[in-house]
Amino acid sequence: MSHAKELFLDHAATTPVHPDVAGLMLPFFGNHFGIPSSPSGLGQRSKRAVDEARSRVGSLINASPAEIVFTSGGTEANNLAVLGAAFAGRKKGNHIVTTAVEHASVLNACRHLETRGFRVSVLPVDDQGRVDPGQVRQSLCDDTILISVMHASNETGTIQPVEEIGAMAREQGIVFHCDAVQSAGRVLLDVRALHVDLLSISSHKLYGPKGAGALFVANQDAIEPVIFGSGQEQGIRPGTLNVPCVAGFGLACSIVQRDLENNGVLMASLRESLEQQVVNRITGVKINGAGAPRLPHISSLSFLGVSADDLAAHLDAANIVVSSRYSPGIEGHEMSPALAALGIEREYASGTIRLSLGWENKEKQIRRTLESLAGAIESLRGFAAASRGKDVTMFTFPDRESAIAAQEGLSGSGLVFSLAARPRDLAHGSCSSMALACLSKDHTKVGTLLGESGVTIAGMHKTRDEDRPMKKKEREFWDKVEQIKKGLRS
Ligand code: PLP
Repeated sequence: MSHAKELFLDHAATTPVHPDVAGLMLPFFGNHFGIPSSPSGLGQRSKRAVDEARSRVGSLINASPAEIVFTSGGTEANNLAVLGAAFAGRKKGNHIVTTAVEHASVLNACRHLETRGFRVSVLPVDDQGRVDPGQVRQSLCDDTILISVMHASNETGTIQPVEEIGAMAREQGIVFHCDAVQSAGRVLLDVRALHVDLLSISSHKLYGPKGAGALFVANQDAIEPVIFGSGQEQGIRPGTLNVPCVAGFGLACSIVQRDLENNGVLMASLRESLEQQVVNRITGVKINGAGAPRLPHISSLSFLGVSADDLAAHLDAANIVVSSRYSPGIEGHEMSPALAALGIEREYASGTIRLSLGWENKEKQIRRTLESLAGAIESLRGFAAASRGKDVTMFTFPDRESAIAAQEGLSGSGLVFSLAARPRDLAHGSCSSMALACLSKDHTKVGTLLGESGVTIAGMHKTRDEDRPMKKKEREFWDKVEQIKKGLRS
């Protein structure tokens, strides 16, 4: 069983709440439960907390407090910006410009607008993930009412030429929205220098609580509300505010602002060390977006000949959390637009993991990551080479701990085996079984060894091979997988 301390390297997905932030929030779940719109002492105490948070969030991006509209997070801020600006601009035109690498909360809002009579130009990016401002200019027409370009990519950390695009939008009188969810608290953001009209940020990406975010709105004429209620947040985003989270978000902004420079240097040097060691130690690796300006904490690595899910499963077994969600699966999953745009070959793309660092990470954790990463890749590549043309049996376990125990139980047995997250959908679905792929025709031997180690096997199946006829039991298993997948989708 793995007892190594959990090492979280997925800070682009979320961050832990800073202890001071949690401390500030607590009273708002207790005695300080008033709503800011109430003139009572109780209400006014909450109002003061919200006002202070508004100043703190504004200060992080060089905005005035009146320009901050609180939302439930980055997704809502992006939806409010895109839908709100489109509706407000409808009389002027119906054309929107965005890029292929935007977050789903921008791209899907744009897709929704296409069903409501808007026209959307989705611009490609270059092999480093950057959009060309010249191409943005070419795409503009008299009907263009909104440009939405993210500050930096959540997949590769690539920073877009936002300042230039902002200046162009300003010159042409087009509303400019920027999704700065990944950048806020990581690099300096100045809404004036970027020439943005609307800018989204999210609390849980910068050591604040989940459930709060903000949209910077320079000019209220630029957007219309998309929900309606009692007029809170200047009527742009009505609804009773989540006071504890908003207050916590505010403090988190002050903390990241105070430490921005030091943490930026620290992150950049840790990331540099990580990437150098990866390149020195592991063959067949590409660092995505390394040729462009990048956020200091994100490293997107593509490894040849391994499945990102299997790699993440190995790291998870060593208690190291990374993200494999942007890699295209072996079973025909689409390649993410950002990876597709980088033009990486599929054999590399399917082995893409994202490591994203936080201020609490240390150099010795990078060394630990390297050891686990190198070991996992050696094992996965070794297994792939040994299993070519042979039968592979997949043992599934009821939980992750049993899978790890199984791995340990088989070590020294002389059998060739490897932890695997496949079948991918089972691993990602609610059944969350983990699997061990094993190269042995002697299943009884494996079963006995596992039994002796006290490991319960949930299932045992030959891996699906489309080219050979399946036995009844196997077919039943894969049919069940399909049913579970259907259930998860519906
Ligand atoms: N925009 C980007 C670039 C993101 O990375 C994310 C979250 O991953 C979001 C928007 C959505 O933010 P939230 O999780 O606060 O809804």
